[in-house]
Amino acid sequence: MKKWIRRAVAIAVLAIAIAAIFGYRRATELDVAEVTDDVHVIYGLGGNVGVLTTDRGAVVVDTMTFRSQGAGILEAAQRLAGGPIQAIVNTHYHFDHTHGNPAFPSGTTVVSTEKTLAYLKQLDADYWEGDAAGTLPNQTFLNEREFKVADKTVRLIHPGRGHTDGDLVVLFVEDRVLHTGDLYFNGRYPNIDLEAGGSVQEWAATIDRVLQLDFDRVIPGHGPVTDREGLRQFQTFMRQLAGIGEQSLRNAWTLEQAEREGVLDADAGYQTQSIPFVLKLDRAFVVRRAWEEATGKVQRIELPEAKP
Ligand SMILES: [Zn+2]
Repeated sequence: MKKWIRRAVAIAVLAIAIAAIFGYRRATELDVAEVTDDVHVIYGLGGNVGVLTTDRGAVVVDTMTFRSQGAGILEAAQRLAGGPIQAIVNTHYHFDHTHGNPAFPSGTTVVSTEKTLAYLKQLDADYWEGDAAGTLPNQTFLNEREFKVADKTVRLIHPGRGHTDGDLVVLFVEDRVLHTGDLYFNGRYPNIDLEAGGSVQEWAATIDRVLQLDFDRVIPGHGPVTDREGLRQFQTFMRQLAGIGEQSLRNAWTLEQAEREGVLDADAGYQTQSIPFVLKLDRAFVVRRAWEEATGKVQRIELPEAKP
């Protein structure tokens, strides 16, 4: 082999290795920030994690995308609380909020809605085989659940359809902090899982029920921590999007017409996010979802185990 080819190959291999290491580090990097004395948020690749610390250990809300991240979350939560993990809460079934669970001890209390557990079993069964099954939700509820750890109260509420039809929000009562899961994306276009019962049409009314709760700070599913005003801004965006759906139905718009004629300006400054080859969350995506729901072009996932 000529010398320059060998050199080019060596450089290419090095470049790939650096990219892989950089990609891996980026994928596992966790950024912990304080919200109140006893509530922290962990940012990383995937949904935001909430950590409540008490005198008897920690409550962790969501666990991100990879088992390796789950291990980092477990470590950070134990360090913050100076004690064990008392419970995990999963806000919904998506892998970027649940796949870190198996890094936690098998048999840890894992709370979710019944729908979330049903979707995990129906749509993600392969991942939850073997030892991972030990951290599937093992305490489920339909609409509301409250539990205490030491002197802290954790209220879980399924406020209605939006991102899916099984999402819950978490209220850390004494700290007045709300973790919304993916019912709220701050400053970015949301994923709308119509197949799993999500709804553009009902999303704003669902946020109305969330806004009735007592809280000051908000940990969104994605994007930086904010406040009630931030959540209201997102609600305005969802209302506009629902309006595009209604108009599409009323005027028998094609998707192209909905994109062209629909009025949407509450998304000013929203970021586009993408999972390569899987999903691109941008303006075209959310308009298409609004149009598909309103014009009845959605194939809902059947849940044999779901209760009415
Ligand atoms: Zn999600």
